[in-house]
Amino acid sequence: MGGVLGFSGVFPIGGADMPVIIALLNAFTGLAASISGFALNNNAMIVSGTLVGASGTILTFLMAKAMNRSVFNVLLGGFGVSSQKAQEMKKGNIQEISVQDASILLSYSNNVIIVPGYGMAVSGAQNEVHELEELLEKKGVNVKYAIHPVAGRMPGHMNVLLAEAKVDYSKLYEMEQINPEFKNTDVVLIIGANDIVNPAAKNNPNSPLYGMPILEVDQAQNIIFMKRSLRPGFAGIENELFFNPKTRMLFGDAKETLKKIISELKNI
Ligand code: NDP
Repeated sequence: MGGVLGFSGVFPIGGADMPVIIALLNAFTGLAASISGFALNNNAMIVSGTLVGASGTILTFLMAKAMNRSVFNVLLGGFGVSSQKAQEMKKGNIQEISVQDASILLSYSNNVIIVPGYGMAVSGAQNEVHELEELLEKKGVNVKYAIHPVAGRMPGHMNVLLAEAKVDYSKLYEMEQINPEFKNTDVVLIIGANDIVNPAAKNNPNSPLYGMPILEVDQAQNIIFMKRSLRPGFAGIENELFFNPKTRMLFGDAKETLKKIISELKNI
């Protein structure tokens, strides 16, 4: 009975709603451990179960809030439905940029915003990102980082990686702080991010991402999109930003491509 209930409860959930449900189930394990602690008269189980349950509940609500959804809505709202309609979008031509042109564009900019995502973590490119930032700053470019609350695969994922690479914390800006700044930005450099910059979250009511606050990178003058292919991100939703006339795709592994940009910049 429990198995059927669990299966039918989570089976329809997909896309960007999955992490919220994982956090909720994690909170339930704490609750179950705590209740077992009462039954077994085991104080350690009661205390540890309560801690897991409470922290899991807080995390669930924070993640749902970051996606502009209530937990109730995530559970019952027909989430994760990737209907044909939801996938419909205006496609166009993509434009690519070479490492050389990207380096020139970056070095002659006044303001650059770096948007890191899961791909930066996969490729382990945080040290190269920091090196790029320092090189650009030496050339007089003002560099900031835009951190989306669910970028990566766990809360604070980007903050931890960038801190490990010794990026100055004052350069990290949360979504609400940085969104008004994109319109005054020459180049947005998206490094292995996808869902968190997908305009479908704002423009397409049929998209499972609809309602999730995003980094409004399409306001910037130029967008350089670094990833390996046109494959979608975690939510499995195609990204119409690939086809934006301001976007230039820079295909390749993030770390390898950054190394090439760094070596180009050293010669400019
Ligand atoms: P996404 O998963 O949307 O996109 C990551 C992109 O990185 C992919 O499109 C992939 O494209 C690219 N990538 C992967 N490997 C590399 C590589 N080696 N080099 C360059 N690019 C690479 O990530 P976002 O950070 O934008 O969004 C996070 C998503 O994860 C959201 O949907 C969020 O809800 C979800 N999530 C977040 C959690 C959290 O707590 N932060 C927890 C669990 C899920 P390609 O394959 O073409 O290279």
